Amino acid sequence: MKTRFSIGDTIFWYCDIEQCTHQAKVKFVNFAGAGYPDINYEVSTVCCGKEQTIFVDENDAMKEEF
Ligand SMILES: [Zn+2]
Repeated sequence: MKTRFSIGDTIFWYCDIEQCTHQAKVKFVNFAGAGYPDINYEVSTVCCGKEQTIFVDENDAMKEEF
């Protein structure tokens, strides 16, 4: 299946909690759901002051900071 990003790519996304943009390298690409696949990118980043594993939705992942 074709995804916009793959493992090792750097993605950016907007963090609603901190109201800023985060960036991280994709560790895994996850596919959920049957029929209409739901793609998310698993990353580790420091968010809200601690290291976290975050699943960034395909629709929220961006190529560069905005
Ligand atoms: Zn955050």
